[in-house]
Amino acid sequence: MSNKLKHLEEINLHLESQAKETQKLFKTIVDSTLDLIWTIDANEKYTFLNQSWLSYTGQSLAEGLKENWRDRIHPEDLAECVEVYNSALKKCQGFKIEYRLRRFDDSYRTILNTAVRQHNEEGEFAGLLCSCSDITQRKITELKIAKQVQVERILTDIIQDIHSSLDIDLILQTATEKVNQYLSADRIFITKIINKNQLTLLFESEGGSFFTGCDLTKAKQLPNKDLIDNFTKLSQGEIIAANNISLTTMINIDSYDLPRASFALLLVPIIANQKLWGLVCVEQYLPPRSWELDEIKLLKQVAIQLGVAIKQSEMYRELEQLAVIDGLTKIANRRKFDRYLATEWKRLTREKNPLSLILCDIDYFKLYNDTYGHQAGDLCLQKVAQAISKALKRPADLVARYGGEEFAVILPNTEIGGAISLAEQIRLQVQSLKIPHINSPVDLYITLSFGVSSSIPSSGLGFYTLVAAADKGLYQAKELGRNRVVKFDLNEF
Ligand code: GH3
Ligand code: MG
Ligand code: MG
Repeated sequence: MSNKLKHLEEINLHLESQAKETQKLFKTIVDSTLDLIWTIDANEKYTFLNQSWLSYTGQSLAEGLKENWRDRIHPEDLAECVEVYNSALKKCQGFKIEYRLRRFDDSYRTILNTAVRQHNEEGEFAGLLCSCSDITQRKITELKIAKQVQVERILTDIIQDIHSSLDIDLILQTATEKVNQYLSADRIFITKIINKNQLTLLFESEGGSFFTGCDLTKAKQLPNKDLIDNFTKLSQGEIIAANNISLTTMINIDSYDLPRASFALLLVPIIANQKLWGLVCVEQYLPPRSWELDEIKLLKQVAIQLGVAIKQSEMYRELEQLAVIDGLTKIANRRKFDRYLATEWKRLTREKNPLSLILCDIDYFKLYNDTYGHQAGDLCLQKVAQAISKALKRPADLVARYGGEEFAVILPNTEIGGAISLAEQIRLQVQSLKIPHINSPVDLYITLSFGVSSSIPSSGLGFYTLVAAADKGLYQAKELGRNRVVKFDLNEF
């Protein structure tokens, strides 16, 4: 029996020493890990804090155990933390949560806290065993990636806008707005350079609350000193990023109740066709701000894209111009004539105002070509086109090359009398050029014959009636001996 007792005692001793070893091992692990480990009881009191915790907080164990766990949580994360902790303690279950925890130097790190339930010897709930790792770096990387994704989306959006639209105003406006969704600056705007050092404000997007209720007329005055000082740098494609500019250089601060007399300015040049076309300007007043590298990079890329868009739209405009201009005489072509006559006819139908038309044709032009050669003929056509253009006074008047050696003049808001006298002026203007045409049966010089018609357009009538009438007049002018003006009344049809 005593042997058995002794044996049991030995087993007991062995178990105890084994338990001690396990405990020691456990303590070594808990104290050597970089993770923070602590336990908290059902009354939210710390019951254990490991070495990493004490190093992290800079406390002694006694200080740490006395602390209220809530005091160490970032104020912005506290509400959610309290809710999660309370619910875990109430339901006696673990959880996983991310929040910012204050360090010994009062800085905050983002941690991932995992809590598991603990039991006492009777198997009752005895609080939580928490462990957490510092995930600040991971958070920073995640944020960077998210920002990168956002930047790429903005750029893709802008590029897509550029591809799907030729409306440069719309492109600039949406680009300004999209960029400021990312920057949330007080103001972002695009200025166009008109003359050297002279800028005009095109589009702006105000993001910050600083300007609300503030009269900005002075702040919007352009150019300002900073822009001019930096003009050369900008022309060379350099970005100007300034973080601490005195407001006095920009606006008269006496007029405003400005809490801080400095602001941050970012100027990014838009280069189109190798020239400084304009600027993307970003301003930040409150809170003070330093421009981040990724913000500058985004703006730079946007500015490059805008430069491409501007070049593209200028090229398109040139092409569009070419499509409506006669190659030889450089005045409007037949296509432009047809379009313009149709729109003016419609407009004047609404206005109930007269529209007049002059058709003119060079007399004996075939003979001119035969006499002087085709090249001389071309030159003559150019001179006649210029002479007609010169005779026109109003911006709404349009001269077009109607056919080979025929020209047409559209005269909106002009009565028949005015049209006849203008035709007469053109006739004299061309005659005064004294372009020799020795074989012409009419004169020694180039002459023109004219047909004039006029009408107050009405929806019941097509504009071709006006053309047909002028053509009749022209025919009659030729019949009557050329070098003259003949009007044809629409009622005569
Ligand atoms: P009319 O007084 O009846 O108008 O006689 P016309 O000889 O001017 O009329 P016609 O229609 O017989 O001839 C027009 C000439 O204009 C024929 C054509 O060679 C010439 N012409 C048309 N377009 C051009 C052009 O672009 N350049 C040159 N050089 N000649 C042209
Ligand atoms: Mg002709
Ligand atoms: Mg002719």
